[in-house]
Amino acid sequence: MIRFSKVNKWYGDYHALADVTEQVGKGEVVVVCGPSGSGKSTLIRTVNRLEEIQGGQIFLEGKDVHDKSVDINRFRTQVGFVFQQFNLFPHMSALDNVCLAPVKVTGKSKAAAREKGMQLLDRVGLAHKAEAYPQQLSGGQQQRVAIARALAMEPPVMLFDEPTSALDPEMVGEVLNVMRSLARDGMTMMCVTHEMNFAREVSNRVWFMDQGRLVETGKPDAFFTNPQSERAKRFLSDLRSH
Ligand code: ADP
Ligand code: MG
Repeated sequence: MIRFSKVNKWYGDYHALADVTEQVGKGEVVVVCGPSGSGKSTLIRTVNRLEEIQGGQIFLEGKDVHDKSVDINRFRTQVGFVFQQFNLFPHMSALDNVCLAPVKVTGKSKAAAREKGMQLLDRVGLAHKAEAYPQQLSGGQQQRVAIARALAMEPPVMLFDEPTSALDPEMVGEVLNVMRSLARDGMTMMCVTHEMNFAREVSNRVWFMDQGRLVETGKPDAFFTNPQSERAKRFLSDLRSH
């Protein structure tokens, strides 16, 4: 579904991604982990071209996403992306946030978009909040609306960049539960997260990054019980001591 081939990225002189070569299969759930600054956000942001790359290629369903002929704005709306900050439009209801892209970008009728939007809000447990504005919702609820909004474009993959890191602890579970149910339904997902229980229970594979490199990948059980690299061993032991 997603294939990284010798991907290289620089921020000026800084080599932020170095020769990343890996693939995410259809229906696979990959958790990307690694120390702060290792390139996790940069990597997933390259998939929907929030970041350009200077070397290599990235294919999504066989299409080169960094090809010059790709219409970036349209393309971006078609790859689901959920950030740490919920960034809903504050002046629009939950339902209007969810319906916006299908109406504006794909020209769906308002009625059809609202019907689908209600189904999606129901799926994330928020049908009863359809008319609420973001500031009337908790952080966990806003993040679930953000997931519904991303799903409204029927993306082939969903990318998550620390979707629970800005939440109060009691709200983390409700967002992870929505992600877990998406995984169960076969969604292809790349998730940057520090939620190692989620990684263990839900992911098919863990990718460990350090200094812009994909240092190792493995099934979660193997990665957590028997990491191969010294760097991953240190990372996991630091996590456990917190
Ligand atoms: P992570 O998500 O793993 O914490 P990032 O992908 O955000 O790491 O960042 C990787 C490295 O690239 C860091 O050293 C960061 O400072 C640097 N970096 C990220 N974004 C930019 C930018 N827009 N300009 C310059 N350097 C950046
Ligand atoms: Mg990051």
